[in-house]
Amino acid sequence: MRVLRRGDTGPEVAEIRSMLSALDLLPAEANGHGSFFDLAVEHAVRAFQQQRGLITDGVVGPATYRALRGSTYHLGSRPLGYSVSTPVHGDDVFALQERLTELGYDAGRPDGGFGPQTERALKNFQRDYGLVVDGICGPGTVRALRQLSPRARGGRPVFLREQEHLRRAGPRLRGKRIVIDPGHGGPDLGVSVNGVNESDIAWDLARRLEGRMKATGMEALVSRGPDHSPSELQRAQFANDAGADLFLSLHSDGNRSPQAQGVASFHFGTGNGTTSTVGELLAGYIQRELAARTSLLDCRTHPKTWDIFTRTRCPAVRVEIGYLTNGQDRARLSDPAFRDVVAEGVLIAVKRLYLLGENDQPTGTFTFADVLAHELLRAE
Ligand SMILES: [Zn+2]
Repeated sequence: MRVLRRGDTGPEVAEIRSMLSALDLLPAEANGHGSFFDLAVEHAVRAFQQQRGLITDGVVGPATYRALRGSTYHLGSRPLGYSVSTPVHGDDVFALQERLTELGYDAGRPDGGFGPQTERALKNFQRDYGLVVDGICGPGTVRALRQLSPRARGGRPVFLREQEHLRRAGPRLRGKRIVIDPGHGGPDLGVSVNGVNESDIAWDLARRLEGRMKATGMEALVSRGPDHSPSELQRAQFANDAGADLFLSLHSDGNRSPQAQGVASFHFGTGNGTTSTVGELLAGYIQRELAARTSLLDCRTHPKTWDIFTRTRCPAVRVEIGYLTNGQDRARLSDPAFRDVVAEGVLIAVKRLYLLGENDQPTGTFTFADVLAHELLRAE
C-alpha cells in the first residue's frame, strides 16, 4: 500500500478518517472534510499509534494501517482462522487470545495475530468443549467462549464441559436422568446399630427419592436391587452405561464416638483448586437444604478424590445423612416422616441445580408441590 501522510488525499484517506472517527479519535466536526489528510487526521493518527505502541510519526504505513483495520473488528464480527498466506490480525484476534488464556489455554502472548499457537489453543478448547474441532473461531465458538461463567475460569476443561452441559440442559427436571445409589446392600449392611442398618436406610431413602423424581418427569434409576451390593466401580459403570446426567450416592455415617452427628456432602475435588464445578454446586444445594429442613448438624461439603467420583463421567455427589452411632440421628432416620423430609430436600436441591440460581425462594421453603407446579408451568 501507499504510505499516507499529511497533504495526501483520496479514497484511502477517507477510509482512514472513518476508522479514526469510529475510534472517537477524530472530532465529529472534522467528519465533513471527506478525503483530506489534514492536521486533525495527523493528530488522530499519532494518538492511535501511541495507544497501540506503534512508532508515533503521524504517518500511516503498513503497520499502522493493519492496526487501524484490526481495530474495526470485534470478536464475532468475522470468522477467524490460521492462514499462512494471508495472516489474520485484529482486535478480535486479540480478544480471542485473551479469552483462551483466561480459560487456561496456552494461546501464547496476546498480540492480535492469529498464528499456529492460537490455532492449537483454539482447537484444544473446541475439543474439550464438544465443538467441531476446525480451528476456526466462528459463531458457535464465539457463543461458547462468551457463555462460560467466571466460575469456570482456571478450571480443568472437563469441568467446563460439565458446566456447559448443565446450562444447556435447561431448568426443567423432565427428561433428566439421575442414578440414585443407595450405599452398601445385601450382606453389606454398612453401619449397623441396634438393628438399624445403613443399607436399609439408604434403600428406603432411594425409593422415596425415586418416586418423587419420577413424579416430576425425571428418569430416576437405582444403582442396585434391595439385596445386591455392587462395588463402587460397578456403580460408576452403571451410571456411565445409563448415560446419567447426575449420580447421587446415599449413605449414613458411623463413628466410634457416639457424639459424632450430622449431615455432610462430598463431591470430586483435589482440595487445591481442581473441582467438579457442578458436583460442588449440587453438594452445596443438598447440604443447605438438608441443614435448613432437618435438625441434623451441618457438617458442610468436602472435596474428595474417591473412586466413585473419578470413575463416574457425570457430576457425582455422595451424602452422608446422619450418624447411626448417634442416638438422636438414629432416632430421626428411623422415622419415615423424617425420611420424607430428606427426600424432598434432595429433590429441591436437584431442582435448584437446574434452575442455576434463578429461583429466589429461600433455602428450605421450596416444596415438592412448588416443583410440580413449576414443571407444569414450564411445560406450556
Ligand atoms: Zn456407607
